[in-house]
Amino acid sequence: MALQIYNSITGQKEDFTPIKPPFVGMYVCGPTVYNHVHLGNARTFISFDLVYRYLQYLGYKVRYVRNITDVGHLENDADEGEDKISKRARLESLEPMEIVQQYTVGFHNIMAKFNTLPPSIEPSATGHIVEQIQMIQAILKNGWAYEVNGSVYFDVKKYIDAGHSYGKLSGRNVDELYSGTRALDGQQEKRNPLDFALWKKALPQHIMRWPSPWSEGFPGWHLECSVMSTKYLGECFDIHGGGMDLKFPHHECEMAQCEAAHGSESVRFWMHANMLTLNGKRMSKSTGNTLLPQEIFSGENDILSKAFTPMVLRFFMLQAHYRSTLDISDDALLAAEKGFDRLKSTLTDLPNIATAKTSTLSVDEWKTKIEGALNDDFNSPMAIAHLFDLSKEINRMKTGEVTITPEDLKFLQSFLKTITEDVLGLQFSSAENDQSGALDGALQVLIELRNQARADKNWGMSDQIRDQLAAKGIMLKDGKDGTTYTISA
Ligand code: AMP
Ligand code: ZN
Repeated sequence: MALQIYNSITGQKEDFTPIKPPFVGMYVCGPTVYNHVHLGNARTFISFDLVYRYLQYLGYKVRYVRNITDVGHLENDADEGEDKISKRARLESLEPMEIVQQYTVGFHNIMAKFNTLPPSIEPSATGHIVEQIQMIQAILKNGWAYEVNGSVYFDVKKYIDAGHSYGKLSGRNVDELYSGTRALDGQQEKRNPLDFALWKKALPQHIMRWPSPWSEGFPGWHLECSVMSTKYLGECFDIHGGGMDLKFPHHECEMAQCEAAHGSESVRFWMHANMLTLNGKRMSKSTGNTLLPQEIFSGENDILSKAFTPMVLRFFMLQAHYRSTLDISDDALLAAEKGFDRLKSTLTDLPNIATAKTSTLSVDEWKTKIEGALNDDFNSPMAIAHLFDLSKEINRMKTGEVTITPEDLKFLQSFLKTITEDVLGLQFSSAENDQSGALDGALQVLIELRNQARADKNWGMSDQIRDQLAAKGIMLKDGKDGTTYTISA
């Protein structure tokens, strides 16, 4: 079976063939670097890391572009409020570029812990102001935008009235769009509430500003992605991805901008990764319903009973399909940890399996099954379910119920290494995971000794263990289900 990808624009899985094989162009909306990335953001980037890795496994030469949003993303989707980066810079008395640098480095560090591959190009919005001005000029020239008081807006109504499909991606019809938009309170500049900013004239207090033919100002948020995808991937490219929450307005606006500037559709496959939830609600910076990756690695949070390694989190995420929502909870992470350890021990056992003259296990069949799952719109949970079934067969090899020849075993070992490490991006042995595993083991011994001391009413010893650990930044917490710990970073 060839690769099929669910295309958000048609609502169907479609056969994937690149525009210019063997090359694939993929653009994914990157983070707005004004704050720490939370685990939900990380999930979206891990979802697209799987896509990137699997396309490469299939032999495609992928140019993966993921941007850094460092200007233009206002607090409110309706082009209102302060720029998120400027606001942070003002609150912390820093230069906007200091904020950008700090959180970009933080983002890279976290994504490296999750073993996501860096994109081929990581362009930033502030590095492409000239190109953004050029695209606005093209849209103005084609008649799909208007200038008011130094700002330029996309004329959505005119665009829709001319028969273009604004709303197609998010599945909203025009009436719905109009009724869902607030009246133009205080933003009379726009002809219509649906219009969105391509260029905004900067207010005197606004610190991030550039000269343009219209005013000193800054680009609208949606524009950067249209500009940078076109610049690095061409006017029409294979895959555009992002989180589900970006479908509207961000991607709808991106699509309109590209079509308005170039007169043709820009994207073949639109892919949307679903949300990570916490207590059933979307993880989000603005509502504060978040868990930061670092808080989970260290165990310093009030939600989970213990620390979890980056690889257990990655495995947990891959056990859900990228188009399904995923709720994070202690039980779910504990189960993922068990599953991850089970897979790891199967892979560790594999070289020691005794071989036979004939194979009763068909390695080709398992390869076809696992690839079949991934070809089915990157169905990683199904691929992992097959890996678990295969683990059972491998266990049966130990008792001789299932046999394998030396050649088949060699093939199986190499195939499983490629699938688990190169495609799923799992690391079974990394300094960080090993160290945190060893530390966890040592702390469990100390917790056990302290429990013993308490049972013996040896309060001096139990207090000594607790206090000396606390002095090293390791806090023990006694709860109804036993003792857990947190480690300060
Ligand atoms: P932002 O930094 O807010 O621009 O978001 C960066 C990426 O994270 C975007 O693709 C969002 O769609 C995605 N994202 C935000 N919240 C979540 C979440 N709870 N689960 C999964 N992805 C998310
Ligand atoms: Zn974008």
